[in-house]
Amino acid sequence: MNVCKVNCDASVFENEQLAGFGCIIRDSMGIWIQGCSVSIPLFSILCCELHAIWRGLVMAWDCECKEVICETDNLDVFLLVSRGATRMIRNDSDLLDKIKEMLQCNWTTTLVLIQRTANRAADLMAKTAVFNKQRLKQENISGSEREREMETGKGTVKAVALIVGDNNVKGSIHFLHQSNGTTHVSGRITGLSPGLHGFHIHALGDTTNGCNSTGPHFNPLNKHHGAPADHHRHAGDLGNILAGPDGVAEISITDSQIPLSGVHSILGRAVVVHADPDDLGRGGHELSKTTGNAGARVGCGIIGLQSSV
Ligand SMILES: [Zn+2]
Repeated sequence: MNVCKVNCDASVFENEQLAGFGCIIRDSMGIWIQGCSVSIPLFSILCCELHAIWRGLVMAWDCECKEVICETDNLDVFLLVSRGATRMIRNDSDLLDKIKEMLQCNWTTTLVLIQRTANRAADLMAKTAVFNKQRLKQENISGSEREREMETGKGTVKAVALIVGDNNVKGSIHFLHQSNGTTHVSGRITGLSPGLHGFHIHALGDTTNGCNSTGPHFNPLNKHHGAPADHHRHAGDLGNILAGPDGVAEISITDSQIPLSGVHSILGRAVVVHADPDDLGRGGHELSKTTGNAGARVGCGIIGLQSSV
C-alpha cells in the first residue's frame, strides 16, 4: 500500500484506574484497513497517547504503507514528537525513542494535529478497550449488583461494527437493542464470494493480527457450536449469511443471545464473516462442534457504541 492514514487516540478513566488506546488505519480511499483497541495500565495521559502513536505506526509499517499521515488530537504529543519539545514526564522517554525510531524507517511520515471531533473513531476504539476492561472487573461483582447493572443497561443501545477484510470484503453492521430484549442485527457486506458464509460474534475485539486475533466464537455459557435456533449453541452463533452473485450479502437477523448490555454484552467483541458456510454443528467434521467448519475469516469488525450523530 502506498499512502495511508493512521488515527490514534487514548482514553484515560482516572477514577477507575483504567486506560486504553485505539488506532485506525485507512487507505488513500478512506477504507479501513486495520485497527486496534487495547487496554493498558493507567499511565499519564501523555504516555497513553504515545502508546497509541507508537502502535499506530507499527501497524502502518506492517501494512506496508510507504507514505503515512499520522493524526493525533493531543497537542502535547504533537509538540513532543514533531517539534522536539522537551516537556517530558518520567517513563515516557523510551516510548518517544521507539516512536522516533519508527519515524526514521524507510518511509515518509507526517504527524498532523487534528480536532478531537475528527478523531472520534480512534477515540471510540480507545474507549471500547476501557469498557472491555471495566466489564471484566465488573464480572467479579456480587449477584445483586449484577442484576442492577442488567436493569440499568436497558434502553435504546445502538452499536456498530465496520467490517474490513481480505481483498475487497467490507461493510457495516448495526446492532439495535429492542424492547423485548432481543438484538436486531442489520447491514450489508460486499466483496464476498457468492453463497453462504458463516457469520459469528467472536469473543475478542482485538484486530491486532487482523481477524485472527478476535478469538473463538463468543461462548460465555460454555456450550458446543450450533445453529441460531438450537438450545445448545454459542451465544455468538448467528448461522450463515447469503451473498448474491454480485458478492453482496444483506443482513437482517434478530437474536436473543447477543445483548448490548449486561454481563453477556457483545460490545467490544467482534463480528466475523467466514469464507465457507457454517455447517451449524451438523457436518460431522472435527471442527463442526467448535466452529461449524466455516473456514478462514475473510472479514471482521469490532462492535462499538454507535455515535448519536
Ligand atoms: Zn459457534
